[in-house]
Amino acid sequence: MILDLLFPNRCIHCNRIVSGDLIVCGICYSQIHFTHYDYFENNPVKEKCSLLFPVEHTYALIQFEEESLSRKIIHELKYRGREKTGKIIADWTTERLDFKNEKPDLMVTVPLHPRKLKKRGYNQLHLFTETLSKFYNIPFDHNLVERNNYSKAQALKDKKTRLETGSTFSVTKNISGKNILLIDDVFTTGNTISSIAWEILNAGDNKLSVLVMAMDA
Ligand SMILES: [Zn+2]
Repeated sequence: MILDLLFPNRCIHCNRIVSGDLIVCGICYSQIHFTHYDYFENNPVKEKCSLLFPVEHTYALIQFEEESLSRKIIHELKYRGREKTGKIIADWTTERLDFKNEKPDLMVTVPLHPRKLKKRGYNQLHLFTETLSKFYNIPFDHNLVERNNYSKAQALKDKKTRLETGSTFSVTKNISGKNILLIDDVFTTGNTISSIAWEILNAGDNKLSVLVMAMDA
């Protein structure tokens, strides 16, 4: 296409021209700091989650560092409108993550705040999760968890209540006896993941594992 000639796709790190379905060139790809965490072994995500809620298994694909390429990749996905980055990150994940005999029953994504969704135009976890779902043959549900909507005034008034009940999120369906994989982009404090985790755990006799694109610590 003429546009490809005028505006070729470039590596987000070094600016080399790369094919349209890539975001980094081969050289920069080899510099990505993949964690190599084993889903079944203890790892820093599991250590952090375990302090917050009962967790089965955890996985993070890349290590997030200041001024790093990992940061640029996530930035590309979340703030530069390149939704397809989600598929690329999913492909990197499927090359590394093996659920062995313990495939989760369901993949669940963290819902975006409606304001952010409107601004971004897509939830950056959806294409990522759908790509994983297809590869591993595990169903997903983007609507199982809902973000409770508060107006600003309400939010201030209800802040105390919310802190007490932890009800920023709710589970929208009856769900029990499931092995659920909760999916988010970057693990930082774990607060969001933790409040969703408790909603899912309290909804029924469920088990919970966590998968994130990147670990920030
Ligand atoms: Zn490059």
